Amino acid sequence: MMLGWTGAFLNVDLNKNKAVSEKYDESLALNFLGGRGFAVKILWNTLEQGTEPLSPENKLIFATGPLTAVGLPNSGKLVVAAKSPLTGGYGDGNMGTMAAVNMRRAGYDTLIIGGKAQTPVILHIRDKDCEFVDAKDFWGLNSFETHEQLIKKFSRAAGIVSIGPAGENQVKFATVVSQEGRSGGRSGMGAIMGSKNLKAIVIEGTGQILLADPNGMRKLAVDGYRELQTKPSYAFWKRQGTMSTVEFSQENSALPTFNYREGVFDKAEGIGGFSMEKIKVSNRGCPQCNMTCGNVVKDSEGKDSELDYENIAMLGADIGLGNLAQVATLNRMADEFGFDAISLGNVLGFAMEASEKGLIAEKIRWGQFEEIKALIVDIAYRRGLGEVLAEGVRAASAVVGNGSSEWAMHVKGLEVSAYDCHAAPGMALAYGTSSIGAHHKDAWLITWEIKAGRESYDSEKVNRLIETQLIRGGTFEALTVCRFPYNQLGFQLEWYQKYLRAATGKEFSFEQLNQISNRILNLIRAFWVREYKEKWSRDLDVPPMRWFKEPLTEGALKGSVLDYEKYDEMLTAYYEKRGWDERGVPKQSTLEQLGLTEEAKTLDAYVKLENKPIINTTLQNTPFP
Ligand code: SF4
Repeated sequence: MMLGWTGAFLNVDLNKNKAVSEKYDESLALNFLGGRGFAVKILWNTLEQGTEPLSPENKLIFATGPLTAVGLPNSGKLVVAAKSPLTGGYGDGNMGTMAAVNMRRAGYDTLIIGGKAQTPVILHIRDKDCEFVDAKDFWGLNSFETHEQLIKKFSRAAGIVSIGPAGENQVKFATVVSQEGRSGGRSGMGAIMGSKNLKAIVIEGTGQILLADPNGMRKLAVDGYRELQTKPSYAFWKRQGTMSTVEFSQENSALPTFNYREGVFDKAEGIGGFSMEKIKVSNRGCPQCNMTCGNVVKDSEGKDSELDYENIAMLGADIGLGNLAQVATLNRMADEFGFDAISLGNVLGFAMEASEKGLIAEKIRWGQFEEIKALIVDIAYRRGLGEVLAEGVRAASAVVGNGSSEWAMHVKGLEVSAYDCHAAPGMALAYGTSSIGAHHKDAWLITWEIKAGRESYDSEKVNRLIETQLIRGGTFEALTVCRFPYNQLGFQLEWYQKYLRAATGKEFSFEQLNQISNRILNLIRAFWVREYKEKWSRDLDVPPMRWFKEPLTEGALKGSVLDYEKYDEMLTAYYEKRGWDERGVPKQSTLEQLGLTEEAKTLDAYVKLENKPIINTTLQNTPFP
């Protein structure tokens, strides 16, 4: 019997309204841990190469890990993953939700959802029972309304994930939303749910997760919560969460401003952490967390809006809006419609710049609140310019043309998150090589980089990046627990070894955890290459040309720009250290050392792993595979 893991998946076929519980082999748990590890392995095994992301054949995965919901700090997390409709590669995100807790208590580590319901449905799981509930009365509701109605229909203790109109209309950067504002799956996981006619999943679990040492875990959990409260930055974190990053980014010329033309914003103070504190009404957070980082404020319409740095930077500075209550309204709209707020801010900034340059007929101006609100609604319902922007910034730039691909701020189709990199080559490489496109989650390198020396392109940066990606993008995403205790409060990694021992009865050395992370990240890279086939090239690991060609014109770092040659050398060094060839494709020997021998054979059939030609493509213009 497996301990720590439930040992079961729930396999759901929406074509047939059928759900089947399946046991999985312990070797999967030991080699991939859970969360992102399970997700990529299932997607690799079950998807045909070239699966259309919004087709019934794509699989939507909700995955937990061995530490999810076992009582330890910040463990109420869930990974949602699929082949992304925005990027055409591997896509995932994590979210704090009671659905994670209930899924494990219902006896499942992972849900695998395939097919497409004929009419909108809600999947209701209650322990071992499953029903498909008609969702016609829910279709069209926003995610907050959906949550409220489903709580009334089922139970306040149920775990619920749902989509809003953005997901229903298959906006390519729609997210899955839970608990009024906790959302996940930047690269279009909400659109996948919409394509399957799946409005929501409601999970009620009443069982127990079997642990190797339940008493030991209880004590460790209490000790962990206490330890966190003793950390010097705990109190300030509770006050501001990630919002203090607005001031940090502004001070360091990294605050994305006017579609990443600049790194400083003259109204930054008005949208920063201290301004937020003046209008804050409460803290909100994920389940099983005692460092709740969601800052709830009243928005300009008197509604609650939960703020964090990325959303505020992208819906504030990046689009020239300096009124925090108004930014909070846009943030609330993003959560209600079920948009990824980072990508939303990014496509809005792109549209504003295109409008300013006279490349589109529509007038959409920097910082004009009413115009922005109207455009957000149009994106959600795919009307007019909204239809173009709903496809994401890469596709929008293909429509707009006129060189706009150079300031379409994305990597591999995923819009850049909220750090300007004109003067941060290490962070630029982190975006370039992230597992899902230009996202900061795997490697938030910028604070370290600023201290270490931001102008250098040396191997120390490459080493640090790989180390960070393995821990954050590998271990934390597979354990499926929040990384903030570790990287914000200095909660040491040894805690997670102890938690794993108490949960599973097994010892995991750091070397083993790194090996698992490496396996997961290599399989993610292999998935991308398999899907892109001959269109794959190292150019896909290069961030937007704006950062190389258009120097900052304001702030202390005025004149800064990335050096293309040096970036390219750094990318080569990165590939060598990862065991990848000059295209950024894992070598056969690398995959085999990680036990991915069968995967190497499959990949070789699509892209020769040895003696390969270099494939040239136009920078940043690789078409959707
Ligand atoms: S620190 Fe924030 S993101 Fe992490 S679990 Fe707590 S509320 Fe969620």
